[in-house]
Parts: sequence; C-alpha cells; structure tokens
Amino acid sequence: LLSLEAATVRFGGRAVLDAVDLDVAEHEVVCVLGPSGSGKSTLLRAVAGLQPLDRGRVLLDGRDRTGVPAHKRGVGLMFQDHQLFPQRDVGANVAFGLRMQGVAKGARDGEVSQLLELVGLPGAARRAVAGLSGGEQQRVALARALAPRPRLLMLDEPLGQLDRSLRERLVVELRELFGRLGTTVLAVTHDQGEAFALADRVVVMRDGRIAQSGSPLEVWQRPADAFVARFLGFDN
Ligand code: ATP
Ligand code: MG
Repeated sequence: LLSLEAATVRFGGRAVLDAVDLDVAEHEVVCVLGPSGSGKSTLLRAVAGLQPLDRGRVLLDGRDRTGVPAHKRGVGLMFQDHQLFPQRDVGANVAFGLRMQGVAKGARDGEVSQLLELVGLPGAARRAVAGLSGGEQQRVALARALAPRPRLLMLDEPLGQLDRSLRERLVVELRELFGRLGTTVLAVTHDQGEAFALADRVVVMRDGRIAQSGSPLEVWQRPADAFVARFLGFDN
C-alpha cells in the first residue's frame, strides 16, 4: 500500500529523515518507536503530504504521490496533540473530514453516530468537547481521523497523555477495531509495550534512519544492534 523510497528531509543541513526506505502492506499495523527527535513525526508528516521531501519518493498503491497535496492522498493523520476544535461539539469535530469531502449533512450525522459507537462513545455527538475527559477526547480525535475511512491511517502518539490502565484497554480495542475495518495503520508511540501489543511489525528509528524493522517478537528477541537493545532496555 505504502512505499517510501530514500525519503529524505533536511532541516538546517541536518537530515532528520535520512534516505528512509519503508514498505507497509495492506492491512498491516506498523508501530514506529524511537527516541525523541529521531524523526518519527516527520516520517508521518512526510507520508501525509504535510512535510515535503528534499529527496526520495512516497508511493501509494505503487503510484508516485510525492508532490500530491495532503488532502488528495487519501491518508488520515491523527496528530501528536490531537487539537480538537474546543468550541464545537463532539459531532462537529468528528464530521470535520466528512464535510471537507463534501458529504451531505444527513449522511454525515449517520456516519458520526456510527463512528462514535465504534470508539465506545455512543450518543456523544451533542456533548461539549471541553466537558470530556482526556481519554474521551482521544477517542473523539480517533473517530475524526477514521471518519473519511482512510485506507492508511497514521497515528502520532494516539494514546499519548492517558494513564496506563486506560492505554492498555484502548490498545486492545484499537487492535480489534483496525482488524474489523481492515485499516492499514502506521502509528508512532514512545511506549514499547503499546507498540508490541498493537503492531504486526515494529520499526525502531534512530537519527532519521530505521535501525530495525521486524515483528515484535523478532525485535524483542534479536535486537539488530546495541542501540536497539539499549533503547528497548531503557524503556523497560
Ligand atoms: P518526539 O518523540 O519528541 O515526538 P520525533 O521522533 O517525532 O520526536 P520529529 O518531530 O520528527 O521527532 O523531529 C525530528 C527532528 O527534526 C528534531 O530534532 C526536530 O527538532 C527537528 N524538526 C522537526 N520539525 C522541524 C522544523 N519544522 N524545523 C526545524 N527542525 C525541525
Ligand atoms: Mg513526534
């Protein structure tokens, strides 16, 4: 579904993404791990079309989409700080992408209530965003990202600020949800437990490069090098 070929992004002469090659297959759930500043968010933004490449290509379904603007790529992105619209109610937030796509109001309302049910917030459309807990807001942000039914969904720290028990519960729900919808997922997390629970494949980044890519078990049992071993060890 997705191929990055030698994707390179430079800021001030420094390669923040350094000739990254990455393939994500249809229905695959890939989690990107790595230290702060290793280029994880930049990677997602580059795939989404929000960060132009200095070199390399982004292919979706084998077609070169490198220069295509974000809203025409058919990929969804949930940001690290999810930034719901605080003055709008839950329903308006979830419907945002549908409105952009020109979906009619009646159809939007139906979609929204379905999505809210999907993320475990049935009937919440008229609730005020400000009155939601952090976990509920995160679910709304997820519903918003899912709304346009992107074939490729990218999540940047989707469970970021939540406490451990809520994260553990949501990881299980998400895994089930992605399986049911057949969504292909590229997700960033700093929590390796989360990555190992969610992912078919784990990608460990270091200084703009991929230090290792493999199944959770592989990466855990046979770290590619001392960096990966140390990174996994530290986080534990
Ligand atoms: P974190 O885990 O803290 O979110 P990350 O792996 O997502 O980190 P990125 O946000 O991709 O890291 O940033 C990688 C590097 O690129 C960092 O050193 C960051 O300071 C730098 N960077 C990112 N965006 C810009 C920008 N617009 N201008 C200059 N430097 C940037
Ligand atoms: Mg980041």
